[in-house]
Amino acid sequence: MAYICLHCGKEVKGTEKLIRCPYCGYKVLAKKRSSLAKEVSTD
Ligand SMILES: [Zn+2]
Repeated sequence: MAYICLHCGKEVKGTEKLIRCPYCGYKVLAKKRSSLAKEVSTD
């Protein structure tokens, strides 16, 4: 399962026990959907 850090936006790979971004230390991660990641609209 891959996650996206909601703070720095980096992809974080880990298990369900992973609760913190290793890059910035932020604790809120969103589950990444492989088919949805490329279709994010920012309008
Ligand atoms: Zn982060």
